[in-house]
Amino acid sequence: MNKKRKKAAADFRYNTGVAHVPWAAVGETIQQNEIAAIIGFLCQKHSNKDTKYKSQFQKTLRELEKLISLSRPAGKLSLGNHVKALEQQVVKMLSAKHALFLTNATAGFEIAFKYAGLQPGDEVIAPAITFIATIAYPLSIGAKVVLADVDSRTINMDPKDVERKITSRTRAIIPVHIGGYPADMTSIMRIARKHGITVIEDAAHAFGGEYRGRKIGTIGHFGAFSFHEVKNINSLGEGGILVSNLALGKDFPQARFLGLDTSRQIPNWLYDVRALKGKAGYFAAGNHSSTEIQALCLANQIKRLKGIIAKRRRAAEYLNRRLKGVEGIITPLMDDDKVKAAYHLYLLQVDPDKAGGDIQLLKKKLADRGVIQIPHFGPLYKFSLMRQLGYDTDAIEKSCPVTEEVFNHRFTHLPLYDFTREQLTYMADMIIESVEEMKKGR
Ligand SMILES: *Cc1c(COP(=O)(O)O)cnc(C)c1O
Repeated sequence: MNKKRKKAAADFRYNTGVAHVPWAAVGETIQQNEIAAIIGFLCQKHSNKDTKYKSQFQKTLRELEKLISLSRPAGKLSLGNHVKALEQQVVKMLSAKHALFLTNATAGFEIAFKYAGLQPGDEVIAPAITFIATIAYPLSIGAKVVLADVDSRTINMDPKDVERKITSRTRAIIPVHIGGYPADMTSIMRIARKHGITVIEDAAHAFGGEYRGRKIGTIGHFGAFSFHEVKNINSLGEGGILVSNLALGKDFPQARFLGLDTSRQIPNWLYDVRALKGKAGYFAAGNHSSTEIQALCLANQIKRLKGIIAKRRRAAEYLNRRLKGVEGIITPLMDDDKVKAAYHLYLLQVDPDKAGGDIQLLKKKLADRGVIQIPHFGPLYKFSLMRQLGYDTDAIEKSCPVTEEVFNHRFTHLPLYDFTREQLTYMADMIIESVEEMKKGR
């Protein structure tokens, strides 16, 4: 090849960056005004009248322009080196064999259920109190979801009820570490081993938590974390990581991206597409790929995870100190030698007989005083979905008496994010004031 042609060929590949796969070369590259829009989104102005912001933004754009003129655009935007680095970081941190960065935790459950060999008609046991994402995949393929009652102290899955509800068709158990407090994994794993059942941890609230010296999410056969914007740490709005300590083989990452295998080629083509092997034979993979930018953001947030959890723990400790002596309030369990919670949420409970009323009354009083609560853990059988799919939700309700009692009368969650001391004090004051009012019958 002559020099000129060589240069042209090199330029042609310029945009592929670090990519070793040819399809990155054919995508549109990100442009300056798009980068500016992203910066404008991530660093928003306080008000439209903010002239200081406007001039600083213009200045930044001019500087950005200079930087862009000196730089080359990113090559791979999806599943590149940053995703790989994040996965290695997580594998090391959690002592897991595998980690896959995904679109969200729900996708992680889906992949895990496929490995577990879940088929239509098979049964999955999940706690009655969780987010619908926990059971979305089993419902979507026509597997049967069996809801286990919860433990009244932690509102996590009650292993005794799990044991009662196991049948010969049970393929998977999916415990949820609600609010970041670990479920009773010792009992759940014992039951699962006895019956040869796969355990998939819904660790959406619990990244960084520990249970008996092991990281939450790595105790079951699979565990999935969520990095959605509401969680302790997050990756630009959406994201999830699936981990496993099973010996899954090198093809595990293919379960995230349609079974594409670039290490093999069929004649006259660049790759092969393969099925993956689960407990019940081969299955086809879906597409749950995530982006480099999200991985980069998450990898950096993980570096300050210890600090994030510590800050949340201190907020919970403060609330406990203030609320502990108050008759009628039940404060949540804290860390001990076996448990290091992730402190996603604060579990506030009342004893209705002693508090002069139940949680519904307290929730109303708190709302009147502007104290935020987290209301998104209604028992799953109460939503229309399961009934519409033909479940006898009245019978499920009857089989979960503790869930009924705690949901209707005893618990709510409070957030534990970056409160000022003043806000935290206000929250505690208002809880105490409200309960005292209730005791006086008001
Ligand atoms: C947020 C959440 C999920 C789902 O996480 P995504 O990353 O949004 O899929 C699953 N389970 C529980 C308990 C959650 O709160």
